[in-house]
Amino acid sequence: MSQRKPSEKLKSRVKDRAKNIFEYCKSQAVFSSQPFAIEHIIPFIEGRKTVLSNLAFACHGCNGHKYTHTTGRDIVTRKEVSLFNPRKQHWNDHFTWNDDFTLIVGKTPIGRATVETLQLNREGCLNLRRALFAFGKHPPIDD
Ligand SMILES: [Zn+2]
Repeated sequence: MSQRKPSEKLKSRVKDRAKNIFEYCKSQAVFSSQPFAIEHIIPFIEGRKTVLSNLAFACHGCNGHKYTHTTGRDIVTRKEVSLFNPRKQHWNDHFTWNDDFTLIVGKTPIGRATVETLQLNREGCLNLRRALFAFGKHPPIDD
């Protein structure tokens, strides 16, 4: 029987796999003022398990906005689409940075719906990206 809360060992594996970089907003855990969250990509309440293939490394902001959502509305096509799944999709296929690396820009319906639903361009994220960029610490190198 799978538990809702991952074990310490599983948390550590999710964190290591993500190289300490949050898998939606690409913020770096080392610069986060809050502890990280282990996010269920498909919610536990929908019967999905607490296993590596259904877990993502996330900040509390993204985790809170994602909540139990698995879909979101694309602002361009107005269609309801699946949110980005970091276990099945590559971040660079769905998102990019704007010219000064402060904004995450959705390149696809999935990317745009995820930017909106998870609020990937929250003010605090923008300020942190701006400050880290000035010190050569953003964007993170993860690929
Ligand atoms: Zn985040």
